[in-house]
Amino acid sequence: MNDDRTLQKVNIEPQDDSYGKIIRGWQKGIFRINLYVIMLTFCIEVAFMFIIDSRGGLSVPIPLYIPLYIIRPTMINIATYLTAYFLNKKKELNIGVRAMIPLVLLTVIISNLIVVHYVFSALYSLIVVPIYVSVIYGNVRITRRIFWILIPVYIFDVICILLAPYKNLPEDFIYNVIVAFLVIPLSYLLVKSQVDYENKKEQLILHQSMVNDQLRDQIRYDGLTQIFNHTGLFEYLNEKIANYSQGDRLYIAVLDIDYFKKVNDDFGHESGNIVLKTLGQLMQQISNDNVLPARYGGEEFSLVFSDMSMEDVKALLTKLHRDFAGQRFIGIDRKITFSAGIAVYEEGMSDRTFFEKADKALYRAKNEGRNRIITAS
Ligand code: GH3
Ligand code: MG
Ligand code: MG
Repeated sequence: MNDDRTLQKVNIEPQDDSYGKIIRGWQKGIFRINLYVIMLTFCIEVAFMFIIDSRGGLSVPIPLYIPLYIIRPTMINIATYLTAYFLNKKKELNIGVRAMIPLVLLTVIISNLIVVHYVFSALYSLIVVPIYVSVIYGNVRITRRIFWILIPVYIFDVICILLAPYKNLPEDFIYNVIVAFLVIPLSYLLVKSQVDYENKKEQLILHQSMVNDQLRDQIRYDGLTQIFNHTGLFEYLNEKIANYSQGDRLYIAVLDIDYFKKVNDDFGHESGNIVLKTLGQLMQQISNDNVLPARYGGEEFSLVFSDMSMEDVKALLTKLHRDFAGQRFIGIDRKITFSAGIAVYEEGMSDRTFFEKADKALYRAKNEGRNRIITAS
């Protein structure tokens, strides 16, 4: 990600479709604008013909003016527009090529405008517009490509003007041509540095948000078992409760290892950790979109179940209970079990009352002799 090329690739080929949607929406917009420009130039051209003709100032007679200044440029514009429109629809076209289509379309329409209206030398500088429009892609390669397309197109435009019949070149024509030509590389350099700057800024923001995500994960996960910790559990519970609507099914199980202090005392803290890790792994094995495991305290664990029946919850927990009791730990010559309490969520309960309901059932399980699962009534 540190090298510019990777960064540019990320920008042309967005992984996330929301970015693709923005670009497609923008492309639609630019196609629409091109269509408006075509219609507008057509209308202006027709209006010009009548206005200038009424003053007797038309440089060519009307029968020549119509095909030269109205029909020909409009046909070129429409043909280019349609070609671009259908090319843009071709899904098999490389995304990098597709990105160029609206820019090339704009280039053709602008150069048509320049050639037809060469008497207005202020229009020559419009040739750089596609360079500025290319900023949207945030990709230096696309901006560079359009820059290299504009140079020959502009030279071609000037040649067309020089070769035009009945031409009436404006004063200082050559100076205007040169100034507009110089604006092309200047615009390119300006846009390139802006795109580079934006990309670097974007990369920095992306990096920062990745660091933030990592920090958030560190806060929510338990280092020993790699499942959610107390913070992660209650964040998850709160979210579930906030989204709860009547008829939804939500359960919590609270698990506590039996006589764990004695395990530590008899076999050492490290062996105790292995037991904790093993229970964490067994819980992780049954976790899915509807089953979230957490270690919310020292040897205290929890499971949140959603969208399943009480029978399924009990069956899963019973299996976990059996699997854990069946574990043999190196250096621990003892069967280790856990007790658990289960509670069903009822509308209006807070995360704490919901949790405490299951915790009370756990307390009963402990009092009734441990190594059992009790459902809160
Ligand atoms: P009970 O059946 O009533 O739950 O008895 P217990 O011994 O499990 O209960 P108690 O809460 O008295 O003991 C919990 C023990 O868990 C005490 C503490 O030493 C141990 N413990 C807490 N966190 C860790 C840990 O990260 N690693 C290890 N090895 N032990 C821990
Ligand atoms: Mg305990
Ligand atoms: Mg215990």
